[in-house]
Amino acid sequence: NSFEDFYLKRELLMGIFEAGFEKPSPIQEESIPIALAGRDILARAKNGTGKTAAFIIPALQKVNPKINKTQALILVPTRELALQTSQVCRTLGKHLGLNIMVTTGGTTLRDDILRLNETVHILVATPGRVLDLAGKGVADFSECPMFVMDEADKLLSPEFTPIIEQLLAYFPTERQTLLFSATFPLLVKSFMDKHLNKPYEINL
Ligand code: AMP
Repeated sequence: NSFEDFYLKRELLMGIFEAGFEKPSPIQEESIPIALAGRDILARAKNGTGKTAAFIIPALQKVNPKINKTQALILVPTRELALQTSQVCRTLGKHLGLNIMVTTGGTTLRDDILRLNETVHILVATPGRVLDLAGKGVADFSECPMFVMDEADKLLSPEFTPIIEQLLAYFPTERQTLLFSATFPLLVKSFMDKHLNKPYEINL
């Protein structure tokens, strides 16, 4: 088992090896080929398993830098996690020529609008701010093929769930959804039943 087995773009493999990753962790081994094949995924994954790269590597592989549209949204519950996740995206995707942007409640809306004037290939965000931007027509997900939720058990709180459902209305129905969660409370299960399409389940 090696990262070469996934037939990734050469520039992406370079980023992975430069990050010091030698071989895929078990969750990466399982999720990367399934995600590359286009299936929805529901993965039970704790911190420290390599789960971040398990969804970022397929996203980086699929995004086309020549298409000037947002092609993946990675939703996370906190600003801190958004910053960490975008950092992993930038490190692994260093040679891909992609524009990766973070938007959370921590910056002014005006700054976000200015930054979204440029092409953003991958957006890492917390729910409230990104819904705001989608509602204003500043962030455009109408052709965004990939939707990722990390720490879904924290994202799918009674407070966030309606926001996420409103956000999904801006996406095409034919999208790929990857959901990573440490636990599976009822809110996550019902979200999965409603919004995921025959998800491949990973339990490690
Ligand atoms: P995560 O579970 O995503 O928070 O990752 C935990 C740590 O493992 C991070 O510091 C990653 O940089 C590192 N990591 C992820 N995948 C690999 C890999 N395939 N080989 C070595 N380190 C990795």
